[in-house]
Amino acid sequence: MTDTRAIPWDRPAPEQEGPPSAWSLFQEDLEALGCPGSAQETFKRLHRPWTWKDGAPDLGSSIRRWLESVADLRLPAIVERQPSLDGSTKLALELADGRRIEAVHMPRKVRNPRVTYCLSSQVGCAMGCTFCATGSMGILRNLQAGEILGQVLALMVELGPDRGHELTLVFMGMGEPLHNLDHLHRAIRLMCHPAGLGLGKGRITVSTSGLVGGIEKLSKLEPRPLLALSLNATTDEARSRTMPVNRVWNLARLRQALDDWGLKRGEKFCFEYVLLAGENDTEADAVRLANWLGDLRHAHNLNLIPMNEHGASDFRQPTDDRVQQFSDWLRARGCFVTVRHSRGSDVQGACGQLAKGK
Ligand code: SF4
Repeated sequence: MTDTRAIPWDRPAPEQEGPPSAWSLFQEDLEALGCPGSAQETFKRLHRPWTWKDGAPDLGSSIRRWLESVADLRLPAIVERQPSLDGSTKLALELADGRRIEAVHMPRKVRNPRVTYCLSSQVGCAMGCTFCATGSMGILRNLQAGEILGQVLALMVELGPDRGHELTLVFMGMGEPLHNLDHLHRAIRLMCHPAGLGLGKGRITVSTSGLVGGIEKLSKLEPRPLLALSLNATTDEARSRTMPVNRVWNLARLRQALDDWGLKRGEKFCFEYVLLAGENDTEADAVRLANWLGDLRHAHNLNLIPMNEHGASDFRQPTDDRVQQFSDWLRARGCFVTVRHSRGSDVQGACGQLAKGK
């Protein structure tokens, strides 16, 4: 039954006023605004950071002057860097209005260089998950499409990689991405544009707390990114306690939305399960979780994430033995489990710890 209390994510989040970001404009938008040169060439120069000079697009002075008169050409500014022992770097980025968001740069130690960016989609978050530092801030505003893409470009310029094909993007930072679906999907269309970064849609993962209305909309959009779901509990009672979204869309409704998504060949869902000591880490939880996955058992990756303790929550991290045991219970039931000790956790840059907006 739907909870009748006010639902903050049912209302649109506040938007930023002011001129559009230059990075939110497609070629057609540049033409419609009266681009004095080739709109196609201008789009390419804006969206391909490997062609930039001194950290900015190489536009020519007349196009630059024109663009600055119709759009905001500033990238989010990296104002803080906190390198972690595991090689990742947590970054604070300042937006044009002085608000701050956070992102994490995570190079992977493999033969071919690959870097994963964990990105924000909003300043703050309306979802109110009780284990999450960002959730304790409330929602301040949506990021615009150009700000979402601007995070990627700012990180590429400062920390690499140079090319889009070395990038993997996960929207697991600040905010509920599906509460900002219009801007998020515009940013994804821009990132996947062959004249821009040219990212493959399979390299972008959008993580939701279970906003079923947004899952249904995203399932019909192209390019359609991969979907991750932050699950974190196995009964409606427990999930509603830590994730208020469950009071509106419960576990059964959520499971239905995944069936309706229509996984294509080779696609998988990613599930994140933050292990909270004494709250969701029993054998009964493992059995319920495996049962809930049901016939998705062969089309998922299940990430167990021991809670990253922080001052805004009383939840604690389970012992290593309990984490191991919980994963064994799941594996015995055919689940594909990875235990992820979140990267960047020593600098509070892991899932549910990004809370720098102001
Ligand atoms: S876990 Fe995600 S959806 Fe929940 S409050 Fe934190 S940022 Fe928002």
